[in-house]
Parts: sequence; C-alpha cells; structure tokens
Amino acid sequence: MTHRLETPTAERLETELMAPDRWEGRLWIGGSWQEPGGGTIEVREPATGELLAHAGLATAADVSRAGERAAEAQPGWAGTLGADRAAVMRTAGLLLEQHSEEISKWIVRETGSVRLKAQWEIKASFAEFMEAAALATQSSGELLAPNELGQTNLARRLPIGVVGAITPWNSPLVLAMRVLGPALALGNAVVLKPDPQTPVCGGVILARLLEEAGLPPGILQVLPGGASAGEAIVTDERIGMVSFTGSTEAGRRVGALAGARLKKVSLELGGNNAIIVLDDADLEAASSAASFGAFFHQGQICMTAGRHLVAEGVAERYGELLAARARALAVGDPNTDDVSVGPMINPTQVERVDRIVRETVAAGATVLAGATHEGLFYQPTVLDAVTESMPAFAEEIFGPVAPISVFASDDDAIRLANRTAYGLVASVQTTSLSRGLAMAEQLRTGIVHINDQTIADFANVPFGGIGASGNGGRFGAPSNREEFTQWQWVTFREKQKTYTF
Ligand code: NAD
Repeated sequence: MTHRLETPTAERLETELMAPDRWEGRLWIGGSWQEPGGGTIEVREPATGELLAHAGLATAADVSRAGERAAEAQPGWAGTLGADRAAVMRTAGLLLEQHSEEISKWIVRETGSVRLKAQWEIKASFAEFMEAAALATQSSGELLAPNELGQTNLARRLPIGVVGAITPWNSPLVLAMRVLGPALALGNAVVLKPDPQTPVCGGVILARLLEEAGLPPGILQVLPGGASAGEAIVTDERIGMVSFTGSTEAGRRVGALAGARLKKVSLELGGNNAIIVLDDADLEAASSAASFGAFFHQGQICMTAGRHLVAEGVAERYGELLAARARALAVGDPNTDDVSVGPMINPTQVERVDRIVRETVAAGATVLAGATHEGLFYQPTVLDAVTESMPAFAEEIFGPVAPISVFASDDDAIRLANRTAYGLVASVQTTSLSRGLAMAEQLRTGIVHINDQTIADFANVPFGGIGASGNGGRFGAPSNREEFTQWQWVTFREKQKTYTF
C-alpha cells in the first residue's frame, strides 16, 4: 500500500550540521545514534596528524543488527510515493548545499583534499541527490504485448530490498552518494560501510543530512569499519546486493563471497589509465590536461592518468612541458595554504608510491621532476623512458606520478594502452577527431575522453570499468535503475483462468 511521508523543509540548521555531540563515537542504526560494538576510531588529519574526532567502529554483530533494522524498514519505504522519496532526496541535497562550507572543511581536513577537490565532491554529491530525486518519479516498468486475449502483461522494476555499500577513502562523500542516492530513491534501504580512515565524509555527514531531511528510521545505516565489517555486509542474508568501490584485490574477495551466495554484486575497482598523446596533438593543451589527470588529489583517484603514452616525435617536448607543470604545483597543507597538491592519505600509500618510483628508476627510467617526499607530502613526479616491464607502467600507482612511455604508431599506442588487466578510462589527445574516435573503438576501457583528461564522473552518465576495473556494473542514470532494482513480470486478467487438467 502506498502511503505519504512528511518531510521537513530544507532550511539551514541553526546549529552546525556536524556538531559532534550528536554523532561522535556512534553508529547510525535504525534512526538513532547508537553505541558501537567495536569501540571508536581516531579520525586524524593527514596533513598535520591532528585528532579531528572519534567515530564509532562497527563489528560484524553491528552489521547484523543494521541489516535486521534495514530489512524491517524497507518495505514501508518502498511503499511511499516516489514524489515523497524525491522530496527527501531534494531536501538532503539542499541541506548539503547550505552547509557546504562546513562540509568542505571536513573533506579538506579528513581526506587531505585541496579545496578545489572538496568543492568538486560537494557539487557532484549535490548532483547525485538531485538526479536521485528525479529518478524516484520516473517510469518503473513497461506494458508488454499480451500473450493471450484478456491478459494484461507488464514488466516492472522493484527495489532489491537492502543494498550494502562498501566505499573507499579517496573521494568518500561522492563515492558513497553514488550508491546511496539511487538506491534510496528507488525504494531500497542501505547499509553503508565507509572506510575507517574517512568515516565522517564517507558516512556520518550523509547520515546527518538524511536524518535532518526526514528519511524514516532504518532506511539508512552508517557503520564505519574495516574488512571484517565489510565481509559481514557481503555475507548477511538480509542484504540482497552489494555495491563495492575499492581495490581490485578486495573486490575479488567480495566478488567471491557474494558469488558463493549468488548475491548480486557491483564492483568498481582500480585503474591503470592511459593518456595517449598523438603526434598531431597541441602539446601545451595535452600537458595541462595530463598534469591535472596525473596530480589532482595527489593521484589518488581510480581515474588518475597513470600512464602517459606519447608519440616518439613529440615525447621529449611533452616531457619538458609536463615536468615544468609538475614543478610549478604548490604542495602543502590544503587547510592552511593555497596549494594544488595536499598530503597522501597514509604512510603505507607513500611507501608504496616511493617503492614503485625507486624500482622504476633502478630499471632504467629517468626522473624529469619530483621523486622526493617529506612525510605524507609527495612531490608531483614525472618519469621518462618508462617501458612495459617497469613497475610504474605495470602497476596502479595511486600517487602523483606520471610515467612517460613512447610509441611508434597508432597501433602501437593501442597495444600499449590495452596492455593492462584494468579497463576503466582512457584519454586521447589529438587535433584529428576522426583519428581519436577510431582509436577509442579499440581501447578496452569503460570510458574514453577525446581531448580531455581522464578524471570525470557525473550523476547522469554510465560510469564504470571492465576487466580488473570492475564487473561491468555502472553508476549514473541511465544505469541506476538497472543496478538498484530488479525485474518482476506480472500478468493479470479479469476472470480466473481454468485448465483441462
Ligand atoms: P580497499 O579495497 O582497501 O578498501 C575499500 C573499502 O573496502 C574500504 O571500505 C575497506 O574497509 C573495504 N574492504 C577492504 N577489504 C575488504 C573485504 N575483504 N571485504 C569487504 N570490504 C573490504 O581500497 P582502498 O585502498 O581504500 O582504495 C583504493 C582503491 O580503490 C584503488 O585501487 C582505487 O583505484 C579504487 N577506487 C576505485 C573507484 C572506482 O570507481 N572504480 C573509486 C575510488 C577508488
């Protein structure tokens, strides 16, 4: 039965959205802030090491409790009018906009994002709320041709039920929104597990926005936690689908656990993305796009341009231009200074990047810029003469490093670009659009940008990768309905049909 909801108006709150006394050290379960089973985790600013807050840490038992509350509440939510679900989404989006300064500060401090990245994440999250609102009132099925006289035959999309969302630390707000927006708008309940390094931006902020926007209790649960809480989500029998964003390694484990339970799983994983610079490209433009693609958010984005494949005749000049841009980028604390590159998320990631750079140089590559770091601050780095067997070509770096490799022909460029198990995004830089389009057809990636860099994700496009980058799941209208609902075929007739049996 359809019923109506009351939603508050989106007026700016009188207090801070994130006033800590409400949420600190707690989990959002069943519409209230509850004590966690796993104690609390310290939320520290990467740039300074300063303690920002404590967040609740979820155990498998908390996940079980959350799954139960979600499963109880979901049918009621699915039974509300789409227009009312849309109103909740819109209200939360407007609150996000009204409190954007406060939220931006959290993104800068908790994730080490520069301000431009924080603003982008907020804008993209706002768009996710609005796109989700629109989705809630769109057609949810089709009237099919009848198979007999007197029969009405329809196919409709119903919510999955409870959707589990497991998300990473790099763009925690928007990567959670990308799941939560459409999943909720389409009538599902959600159990969200943000990465424990970014529990506030990855979950608490969204719980607070939706709490204030009048989302009914039990429709969203937010449980920061580690791998064990993540696995509890994948194995919980009340959770009907898992949307996982993170590393390929963890994605394989999640896929295997879900597969054993025949559970739907959407995997958005890593990337080792190529930017291909053809010999006819405008090198100033190509190097500026490449600099953004390689160094934005310290290269810690799944779409980062991690391999720079450049035509033989222009590689030297491209290297000079890119290295000059890398050297000109200011590195520092984005909370206090006007910088383009902030800290990396943790020492382990820095060590990993540094290991890849050192091994690649030891194997014969040359350093055109960077390759040094101080604490978590890694200098934008350009490496030249990188070949296929070197770690900087073969591995996803996930740091501010641009390795340049040279190709001899367009066919060679395609071969090199496809020489990776990943398949998220590629960029082609050329003044010949037809040459770029011909190349795009042969690139094994879910996304190609011609004459733009690799980092782009919008609420209205089908975003996703293939191969080691994902199992073909997509985010963004028009894919959201496909991902977060399932078909039900329904027939009905005026009179009961009888048989000769
Ligand atoms: P990660 O896989 O270690 O962690 C991601 C999330 O998975 C976290 O919430 C973590 O707690 C959880 N997790 C870890 N092991 C798990 C397990 N066994 N079962 C269930 N959950 C588990 O990845 P990360 O280091 O946080 O993120 C970096 C990676 O994510 C990179 O490879 C990057 O390319 C990828 N990424 C992909 C996208 C995309 O859209 N394709 C977006 C952002 C990041």
